[in-house]
Amino acid sequence: MKILVINAGSSSLKYQLFSMKSELVMAKGICERIGIPGSVIKHTAGENDPVIIEKEMKTHADAIHLVLSALTDKDIGVIADMSEIQAVGHRVVHGGDYFSSSVIIDADVKKAIEKCIDLAPLHNPPNLIGINACEAIMPNVPQVAVFDTAFHQTMPPSAFMYAIPHELYTKYKIRKYGFHGTSHKYVAYRAAKMLGKPIQELKIITLHLGNGSSVAAVKRGKSVDTSMGFTPLAGVVMGTRSGVIDPAIIKFLMQKENMTVDEVDNMLNKKSGVLGVSGISSDFRDLCKAAEDGNDRANLALDMFVASVKKYIGGYAMIMGGVDAIVFTAGIGENTASIRESITKDAEFLGIIIDKDKNNSARGIEMDVSGAGARVATLVIPTNEELMIAKETEFLTRK
Ligand code: ADP
Repeated sequence: MKILVINAGSSSLKYQLFSMKSELVMAKGICERIGIPGSVIKHTAGENDPVIIEKEMKTHADAIHLVLSALTDKDIGVIADMSEIQAVGHRVVHGGDYFSSSVIIDADVKKAIEKCIDLAPLHNPPNLIGINACEAIMPNVPQVAVFDTAFHQTMPPSAFMYAIPHELYTKYKIRKYGFHGTSHKYVAYRAAKMLGKPIQELKIITLHLGNGSSVAAVKRGKSVDTSMGFTPLAGVVMGTRSGVIDPAIIKFLMQKENMTVDEVDNMLNKKSGVLGVSGISSDFRDLCKAAEDGNDRANLALDMFVASVKKYIGGYAMIMGGVDAIVFTAGIGENTASIRESITKDAEFLGIIIDKDKNNSARGIEMDVSGAGARVATLVIPTNEELMIAKETEFLTRK
């Protein structure tokens, strides 16, 4: 079965074509600057070098047409005809409390995704545009929506409710939703596989550490808590996002700095996190280098990031009544050994011990980096949200 995975953003569209039998990526690429002059598609077939095609894409429908012609092109294509694509899986950021799993898209599903636009104004509209464009071009091909929020719908109310007046929950659905769900689910299942145990017997803490970072408590295969909240601003310190702060700071800043609500929101999302603290970069490669060169604020930013992640590991071990494995994933989790070492330092009391040599050699590959005497497995597992979307799409459309 061949499945096309689409991740549509406001001006970009990423795609991957999978052959499910071998879970092989036949081709992948990205359309950039959709609706902006100078649009380009970067297409990679199999192991070949990427091909860059400059072509006007006024709309997402134009982009999908171009993706399909690249996939079926006689020189750079990988399939003879677009009828070979048997299903399309779409990444959708917000499913609110409507969806606790992936679904085949129909008119009701699209209405529910539309109802969640208030909750994800930057993401759900382009996701819907991508779905509509695919439906128009491939009307007989089943489309599946895979939500970033769905995996966390198993959280109990004690985890997802905020301690604010209850009517705000009933009126506006203000609650914790959580994000990166596709990634947390994928790595939790891979962890069970690596440990050779049924996921139903495991308590796993998954650490998705990238530009945006979140931590999840996965008990018996279900998310029971996660660090992001009503929006992806909450939780640990991130590249440019503050994570948890005292909400009273917002009013204080508005008064003292004469800032509008939008200006404070922008500051907390785009100018905070390790970038705001260090004044250097949001990129951990730059920060680690600056810290090595003795830059105090880069060191402080890294220490704050590490401490914020540690607090969730300790908290979630308590929430789950123990922990069998912690999993590092995403850009930082997969690649930055020094950060993994700092996060797991002084955690022997919890049973977390890493093998430094193994940890130093784990980079972008699945690896158990636990040290001698560890009671908790420490795993590095590259995330693969696209493959997860393709698998869910296959599961739903094969039935
Ligand atoms: P996003 O949330 O945008 O998907 P990523 O998961 O790609 O982010 O993570 C980006 C972060 O990972 C950056 O801070 C970057 O410094 C860090 N990182 C460290 N090493 C690498 C590497 N070898 N490749 C990519 N990112 C890396």
